[in-house]
Amino acid sequence: MVYKARSSSLTFAMPNTDLLARSHAAVWHPCTQMKRHETLPLVPIQRGQGAWLYDFDGNRYLDAVSSWWVNLFGHCNPRINAAITDQLGKLEHVMLAGFTHEPAVRLSERLAQIAPAGLGHCFYASDGASATEIALKMSAHYWRNSGHADKTQFISLQNSYHGETLGALSVTDVALFKDAYGALVKQNATVPSPDWRNAEAGERAEDFALRCAAQLEAHLQQHHEHIAAFIVEPLVQGAAGMAMHHPIYLRRARKLCDEYKVHLIADEIAVGMGRTGTMFACEQAAITPDFLLLSKGITGGYLPLSVVMTTDNIYQAFYADEVARGFLHSHSYTGNPLACRAALATLDIFAQDNALHTNRAKAAYFNGIAEPLRAHPAVRNWRNTGMIWAFEIEHTHADFAQRCFALGLQNELLLRPMGNTVYFMPPYIIGEAEMQLLAERTLKIVEMLA
Ligand SMILES: *Cc1c(COP(=O)(O)O)cnc(C)c1O
Repeated sequence: MVYKARSSSLTFAMPNTDLLARSHAAVWHPCTQMKRHETLPLVPIQRGQGAWLYDFDGNRYLDAVSSWWVNLFGHCNPRINAAITDQLGKLEHVMLAGFTHEPAVRLSERLAQIAPAGLGHCFYASDGASATEIALKMSAHYWRNSGHADKTQFISLQNSYHGETLGALSVTDVALFKDAYGALVKQNATVPSPDWRNAEAGERAEDFALRCAAQLEAHLQQHHEHIAAFIVEPLVQGAAGMAMHHPIYLRRARKLCDEYKVHLIADEIAVGMGRTGTMFACEQAAITPDFLLLSKGITGGYLPLSVVMTTDNIYQAFYADEVARGFLHSHSYTGNPLACRAALATLDIFAQDNALHTNRAKAAYFNGIAEPLRAHPAVRNWRNTGMIWAFEIEHTHADFAQRCFALGLQNELLLRPMGNTVYFMPPYIIGEAEMQLLAERTLKIVEMLA
C-alpha cells in the first residue's frame, strides 16, 4: 500500500485511513525510514488514558515504553491536567531573559531540594539534546573562564547516547549516526562501557565495573589536560539496549574526575525522576555530579522541558562584569511556565503517592509474575533496575525488532525493541492486571519469534 496525498475535500472522510495517508504525506516522522510505513502502517492514536493508548477503531495498546520513556503517571492524568489548566489561565509563556515567573522559581527550588546535594542552579531548555549541548558548552566555558582554555575535549562511554543534535552526537556512540553524520561532528574519545553483558564468564558486575574504571583512569592520565568533561548515563545506558552497570563505576568515575580536574556530567534524561528506583540514579552511587541533566519524565511526559542542574562553583566562574564571561546560551521557550507547572505537579504526585515506595512493590510483583518469561530458553541477560526491564532474544529473523513491534500491536502491547533487545519501561501507574497482561502476552510473542 502506497499512501498518496489526498485533496482537502476528503479531510473528514474515514478518520483512520485518511489520517494515516495525510500523516505519511505531510509529517516527516522522527528517526524513521518513511518508506517502511508503506508496509508497516503508522498507528493513529485518538486518546490516552492511564497506561493505555486508544486508536480510532477501538483498539487499545498498553504503553509499555512510556511513549519513548517520558510518561510517568499515565496519559491524561487528572492532577497534571489540572495544574496545566490552572497555569493556562494565568500565564502561558514569558521570555526568561530579563523576566522571571513563579513556576520556574518554584521548580528550581524544589529540584535543588531533592537532587544530590550542591546542585543549586538550574538552567532550562526544551529537550534532552539541548541539555547535553548546554552541559558541554558550560563545562568548556567554565575551564576557559578558569584559565584552562585547552580543556575542550569530552569523553563518553562506548554505546553512549546523549541526543541527536551535532554537539550531542559528538558524545553519542551509535554506528548508524557516526556513518551518516560523522563528518559534521567533532571527534571525541570513548572509553569502555561497564555494561555487565560484556563481563568475562564468571566475572562479577562489580569487578567488571572496576576493570572499566581502570581503563577510564588510564585514559584520563594521558589526556586530562585537554578534557573538559566525562559524560555518562548513570546505571542504565538506555539507547545501548538498556545496558546496566554496577554503581561502583560511578563512584570511581567521580573520584577520578576530581583527581584529574575533569567535570562529571550525569545524563539522567532517561534514568532520572525515579526510573532506576531512586529519584536520581546518582543517589545509588552516593555522588554529586558537576552537571545533572533532566528531561523526558520531568513533566510527567506532558510538555517539552529540560534542565541542567549545576554547582555554585561552576555558577561563580561565570559571575562577573564582562558579558563574555557569562554563559551564552538561550532558547525561545526556556523555562516555559506550562511545562514548569507540569513538572511541579509531577513532583507533587511523587510526594502524595509515595511513588518510589510503591514502585518498589510493583517491581517486585512484576519480577514474580514474569518468571516464566525470564526462564524461557530463548531469553538472555534478563535484567532489571527500578522500573526498567530488558532482555535479549535468541532468534533468526533479520527484521526482528519490526516483527516484534507488529506482534506487540496485535496483542495490545506497545513494545519497541532495539535490535534483539526487548525492554519494558512502563508508566508508574501500571496496575497488577496490566503487568500480568504484559508478562503473558510478551511470553506469547517470544514463543512465536524464538
Ligand atoms: C532521550 C535522551 C536524550 C535526548 O533527549 P531528546 O529530548 O530526545 O533530545 C539524551 N540523553 C539520553 C540518555 C536520552 O535517553
